Amino acid sequence: MNNNKTILITGAAGFLGSHLCDRFISEGFSVIGMDNFITGDEKNITHLKTHPNFSFVKHDVTEYIKIDGDLDYILHFASPASPIDYLKIPIQTLKVGSLGTHNLLGLAKAKKARMLIASTSEVYGDPLVHPQTESYFGNVNAIGPRGVYDEAKRFQESLTMAYHRFHGLEVRIARIFNTYGPRMRLNDGRVIPAFMGQVLRGEDLTVFGDGLQTRSFCYVDDQIEGIYKLLFSDYSLPVNIGNPDETTIIDFAKDILKLANSNQKITYKPLPQNDPLQRQPDISLAKKVLDWEPRVNRDEGMSMTFKYFQQLEEQELYKKAHKDFSSFNKR
Ligand code: NAD
Ligand code: UDP
Repeated sequence: MNNNKTILITGAAGFLGSHLCDRFISEGFSVIGMDNFITGDEKNITHLKTHPNFSFVKHDVTEYIKIDGDLDYILHFASPASPIDYLKIPIQTLKVGSLGTHNLLGLAKAKKARMLIASTSEVYGDPLVHPQTESYFGNVNAIGPRGVYDEAKRFQESLTMAYHRFHGLEVRIARIFNTYGPRMRLNDGRVIPAFMGQVLRGEDLTVFGDGLQTRSFCYVDDQIEGIYKLLFSDYSLPVNIGNPDETTIIDFAKDILKLANSNQKITYKPLPQNDPLQRQPDISLAKKVLDWEPRVNRDEGMSMTFKYFQQLEEQELYKKAHKDFSSFNKR
């Protein structure tokens, strides 16, 4: 057990951050969660609030960060992560990747902590190399709408490597590919909650473009295991963490209809600007340096996630019915 080690996790109330809090608590760490709730949900960490090894600080990481006592590790996961979110809050997205990362690197240096950053497959942009290896420099449009996220993450990697080279800081860089699972927001716009929400509400599934663009989806438990192994590895350069199981979006939409046993329709909407046409991680490096590869196949992962969203939707309907009933009674 690691009961004398303390870890700060930023983005703790988000999808990946909350799963990381669970994992590190279960491994015996003292966990400090930090979040400003801009895209996260307090409910994701409610179950941890009374845990003796968990504390929470509501704070915007783009402002100076003060933590009392020792810190052994920092996981920087705070950042809007869905295209809808970062298009809505572009300046905050740029700030959390740049100013936020700078604050956290400064904190890591002061505390002599090891820092792992959540980078992304978006650093490869709309890739001209397929599958994407870590040595590929990418194809990003800095001034396009997605540039606010992609360039923030590229700057984040650059700043992190500069702290490593110039200050000797211990760093780890996870290039995370599309990850899904329970605790994603049903309305965050990413394709899995979007399609599952549409199925549950009886709406048409909205496929962008011709649906022939590809993605490769990784189940959250596999992603958390990869990040955990990366943190404790001795590898300082970026490592792709994702599932190479690639699919077109149109096939994916059909799979979701099959999973839900639904005969709802698919409608086509314009492809958003600079939407990458193909994406698949080459995970040879992760296999070699982390001895890691994903274990949960897409059918299993999707069915666990669908059950989660079904329950969420039922709770929402229940809450709505209850509210309607109470307001009816008050008349
Ligand atoms: P998320 O939106 O669920 O979680 C992000 C969290 O960060 C939210 O709780 C939000 O409130 C918090 N946050 C944002 N700005 C903040 C700020 N200035 N100060 C404090 N907290 C702030 O997203 P996620 O999917 O959990 O992504 C987490 C990290 O992983 C992000 O850095 C994202 O770029 C990266 N990532 C995720 C994926 C994926 O598929 N989920 C893929 C690539 C990279
Ligand atoms: N997409 C779609 N319909 C939706 C939402 C997304 O066809 O309602 C497509 C989107 O254009 C992209 C893919 O699904 O090609 C994955 O989108 P997501 O927002 O999940 O993440 P991205 O990988 O683009 O960051």
